Amino acid sequence: MENCPACGVRGKPVRAVTLRALVKEEQQGRIGPGRYRFCATKGCAVIYFAEDGSGVIEKEALKVRVGVKESEPPRPVCYCFGHTIEEIVEEARRLGRSLILDDIRERVEREGCHCEETNPQGSCCLGVITRIVEEAQRQRAVERGSLPN
Ligand SMILES: [Zn+2]
Repeated sequence: MENCPACGVRGKPVRAVTLRALVKEEQQGRIGPGRYRFCATKGCAVIYFAEDGSGVIEKEALKVRVGVKESEPPRPVCYCFGHTIEEIVEEARRLGRSLILDDIRERVEREGCHCEETNPQGSCCLGVITRIVEEAQRQRAVERGSLPN
């Protein structure tokens, strides 16, 4: 199955290395042999579900807080360099641009990133952060009356 059994939204495939790195040691036994998908729905307690329907892994089983699924701060989103959604939105709304995003891009280029083993989504955070920044910039523009709303 491709859709989360709890919320019904399509999940994104993640590799086993991500689950091994982020599921708490005492919960590792719950990881089945099949393929897993990540559920990104805000408020849904399921983080990973098995494609073969054999089980789910909920947020309590993870070592880290999954910021994109939470509505209360702190919501971590960049796990390699330690940035939260709050911090990124605040800066983008204040400056109209994101020095944090520039910094992450530069560091990823220079040092590479370890998203597969640090980010619960198992992929680089840049796409998600770019969308967060764009949304913050849009809100800023609306507030300043420079966009018809
Ligand atoms: Zn879900």
